[in-house]
Amino acid sequence: PASSGKTFLGHPSGLAILFMTEMWERFSYYGMRALLVVYLIAGGPDAKPGSQGGGLAMPEATSVAIYSVYVAMVYLLAMPGGWFGDRVWGPRKTVAIAASVIMAGHLVLAIPGKPTFFVGLALVAMGSGLLKANISTMVGHLYDGPKDPRRDGGFTLFYIGINVGAFAAPLVIGTVGQKYNWHLGFAIAAIGMGIGLIIFLLGTRHLNAKSSQVPTPLTVAERNSWLKKGLIWLAIAAVFYGIVIGTGVYTINWALVPIALLGLFIPIFVLARIKRDKELTETEQTKVSGYIWFFIAAAVFWMIFDQGGSTMSTFAEKKTADNVFGFDFPSTWFQSVNSLWVVALAPVFAAVWLALARRNREPSTTVKFAGAMVLVGLSFVVFALPMSMASDGTKVSPMWLIAIYGIQTVGELCLSPVGLSLTTKMAPAKYASQMMGVWFLAVTAGDCVMTLLITAGADLNGIGVMLGQAAAAILAGIGIWLNRKKIIGLMGDVR
Ligand code: GLN
Repeated sequence: PASSGKTFLGHPSGLAILFMTEMWERFSYYGMRALLVVYLIAGGPDAKPGSQGGGLAMPEATSVAIYSVYVAMVYLLAMPGGWFGDRVWGPRKTVAIAASVIMAGHLVLAIPGKPTFFVGLALVAMGSGLLKANISTMVGHLYDGPKDPRRDGGFTLFYIGINVGAFAAPLVIGTVGQKYNWHLGFAIAAIGMGIGLIIFLLGTRHLNAKSSQVPTPLTVAERNSWLKKGLIWLAIAAVFYGIVIGTGVYTINWALVPIALLGLFIPIFVLARIKRDKELTETEQTKVSGYIWFFIAAAVFWMIFDQGGSTMSTFAEKKTADNVFGFDFPSTWFQSVNSLWVVALAPVFAAVWLALARRNREPSTTVKFAGAMVLVGLSFVVFALPMSMASDGTKVSPMWLIAIYGIQTVGELCLSPVGLSLTTKMAPAKYASQMMGVWFLAVTAGDCVMTLLITAGADLNGIGVMLGQAAAAILAGIGIWLNRKKIIGLMGDVR
């Protein structure tokens, strides 16, 4: 139901607004993310010799763990984000508030210092969580039902918008931050989010009316009970950290490990609760069982994939030649490579799926997921090569990283847009809008496993650890492929 009748590349005109809002949000998100690990290690023992100081001078392992927890929290908070959309403000208002919080977070990051860094990071994580699930749900609202044939195409376009923003961000924010001033880089991220917010506010009339409704408003009694529970947990955490800090035993692991455990426990708990919900019909319950397969696959996938901004980022900074044909470029530019691949390959993928579908030969979602797992695993098998070549201090060719990101992107396109669309189709009616948040919990679970590995002392730059992860992904992919008949059976009418 596009109200005005105008369309955007054959899609409801609201898609253009959501496309641009998310493009700018991702611009700010990925721009800051490109700077994150390099900023944390800058000026410290693990920084590249001769690089710009002024960072937080942290060890590399701690920096990567902070990065992983941060990304995990962004996606964990998508869950309460969906809840706010459903029960408190409606998706539209939630997105507007979220964008403001994100902007505030980047502005706080623009103020130098450790305390402002952590406060800013928390604000960005909170805002991004609130925004991500709601904006994706709103894309779903633009199409009449699961049967609208434009739906998958709409999500593919939306995914391109994400990656146009993610592509430009490291080139602008990365360059300014890494070459001139970290905090100016963060300030530009705030400006980007500001532009996105303005576009969103000006364009809301193009959105589906459903996006402004609060489908199941919170009752006063419920609100009070949530507030009470929240305050109790806050008090427990305050007492706990009061003791830990007061007795002087506090190290950053006291923050990282509990959050990572929570990030692993919550996804399991949430899925178990949905699966056991007695109000679901039998078909819905079977679908949830099928969904769990995809969820686990996605968790392993993101665990490896998200190291594109950590393990692969420090590798780019320290072990890759940053001079090609006499042209010097900042290492954060490597953070654009994945998005460049997405923008280049997504249309190809859409065309190939369509051509195969015409001949009735489109691979099932299950086979696509299995392929994605094998590919992401292979990418780390390949990564082990330049990693060992660089162990004697040789700088390797940038082509290695470009190829590794390329392999991962092919995997991503088999899994990520397909997963978004699948989630909106497999969701039990009762969880229709919360389900997007559940999908993003796979990222949380994957990144929290990573955090726990690091805090347990695993060396992510070690060949053994790298090949271990690769083996886990490839085996999981093979497992899914072997069980494809069973999984397809669980999915019912969803293809
Ligand atoms: N790159 C995509 C985005 O930022 C997907 C990330 C994800 O789902 N983990 O939206």
